[in-house]
Amino acid sequence: MTIHLPDLPYAYDALEPHISSKTLHFHHEKHHKGYVDKSNAALENSPLKGKHIEDIVRGAHEEGNQGLFNNIAQVWNHTVYWHSMTPKGGGDPDGDLAKKISEDFGDAAKFREKFREAALGQFGSGYAWLAFDGSKLIIEKTPNAVTPLIEGKAVLLSLDVWEHAYYLDHQNRRDAYVDAFLKNLVNWRFAEDRFNVCNSKGLTATFEPAEA
Ligand code: FE
Repeated sequence: MTIHLPDLPYAYDALEPHISSKTLHFHHEKHHKGYVDKSNAALENSPLKGKHIEDIVRGAHEEGNQGLFNNIAQVWNHTVYWHSMTPKGGGDPDGDLAKKISEDFGDAAKFREKFREAALGQFGSGYAWLAFDGSKLIIEKTPNAVTPLIEGKAVLLSLDVWEHAYYLDHQNRRDAYVDAFLKNLVNWRFAEDRFNVCNSKGLTATFEPAEA
């Protein structure tokens, strides 16, 4: 069983004007696919080959196999990132997740403020995340391919802040990209589903992207 490139959960032009079709084509077909190909090459003679992608990410990290980790974590991080956005997204969270956000951050506006701070505060390439540790929601930033998955947390939202995610549309203005994500794209339905699943089945409940 090899790692494959999952389809985007929407059309390439579905996130316009905030993220262009050109960006999504490059990001998915070149960057994401590149990580898939390099992961498969690195897995060729590895005992991790054939395991669930989340176990490969954790296993590569535990083994200190940086080459495999960087690529396989990027495969997974990007798949979560695609699902963290939706056309006509944004707004405020709903349901149990909304209650938990109020409990842990104050309200949705305070969440946005802290998430924005994390995304803009990540120096260089990396991610901003909304994660859950089993009792609390956590906003964090990580460099390069690092993911909260290796800290045993469940990921509810991923925001790619590598320049390749926004440079064609927003040039150096990461703030404009982050604001567009929070205002127009963030997929609260996805985050709430992940929260409910991980709350009932445990933090290691795997993320299975829907396939077209
Ligand atoms: Fe990326």
